[in-house]
Amino acid sequence: MSELDARGVDVRFGSTRALDSVDLCVEGGRILALVGPSGSGKSTFLRAVAGFVTPDAGTIRVGGRTLVGDGVPVPPERRGLGMVFQHHAVWPHMSVAENVAYPLRRARWNRVDREKRVAEVLATVELGDLADRAPDTLSGGQRQRVSLARALVARPEVLLLDEALSALDEPLRASLRLMLRRLAAENELTMVHVTHDRDEALAIGDQVAVLDRGRVVQVGSPAELDASPRSEFVARFLHDAACVAGRMSGGRFRSDDGRVSVPAAALGFPSGPVDGPAYLALPPDGLELVEESTGEGVLPVEVLTSLYGRRGRTVICRSGDLELRVLTPGVDDALPSTRGARVRRGFVYSR
Ligand code: ADP
Repeated sequence: MSELDARGVDVRFGSTRALDSVDLCVEGGRILALVGPSGSGKSTFLRAVAGFVTPDAGTIRVGGRTLVGDGVPVPPERRGLGMVFQHHAVWPHMSVAENVAYPLRRARWNRVDREKRVAEVLATVELGDLADRAPDTLSGGQRQRVSLARALVARPEVLLLDEALSALDEPLRASLRLMLRRLAAENELTMVHVTHDRDEALAIGDQVAVLDRGRVVQVGSPAELDASPRSEFVARFLHDAACVAGRMSGGRFRSDDGRVSVPAAALGFPSGPVDGPAYLALPPDGLELVEESTGEGVLPVEVLTSLYGRRGRTVICRSGDLELRVLTPGVDDALPSTRGARVRRGFVYSR
């Protein structure tokens, strides 16, 4: 069980700061999900840990061993890490078992030990029956499990997953998420799982780190991130929150356009108390559609359309220039009498 500890990691590509003083720590046997928009630096972090990118500053340690930071960085093949990419890099001319055995061959394991270990790992990823098959006879999900087995076979200290499930369709993706969680728990394996998919990050991570333009903007358990997004960016990115500019004063948020006034009691202040210019972030599950268009904490809205979802229908509304999403459990498609959205829960940040 090895801890991964990255401190002050900087990576620059010309004038682009791909990683900016990144501190991330993953306890041994736990999964860190790294999520953020495209270009936020997720893959660069993984590549820096794997050794394909050399940071301009910072240290990276695994299990107390320094990979980057003390003189010459340890080369990728000596880092003891496993990596799985989005597109399964499985060799077509080798059987499933030969693919998985390859890292052990390179490490000069003897045949008996190699065959034993390959059988063990194939059983773990539920591919025991397919050991002799050619990769082109497998489904996408099975091929991705071959990549996973190959990354696991040499008992890596840390497994790095770069959008490893992103090319798969549901429900296969959901079953591989479960497999990764089981593997981490049973093998006490430390994992970093990079994804642009917010729901996947929250489902899979023991801890979730949100990246924005090369910076870690929040790290916490999925429940912490859900309950308390620490910035307007995280509220928008993780919660699909709409943001209204206004002011906090006298125990009340008032929007600049005068359309909304909400008492502080209905609001959360995840980044600390706010007084003066502020943003109010309104997540879809913090709003309720109502018939009236005015009143305490009510914004006048015009319903545009709605999307069906298992947790309820998401109604898309407009209020002035603002587009709002409102999660309405059990509500039907037609909402003719809706004229307002009442704020039940919102987050306020200084601006
Ligand atoms: P993500 O994985 O979150 O989509 P990346 O880590 O791939 O983001 O990229 C972060 C930033 O670094 C982006 O602005 C990207 O264009 C830039 N970048 C990544 N790799 C290189 C490279 N090899 N050369 C130049 N710029 C790069």
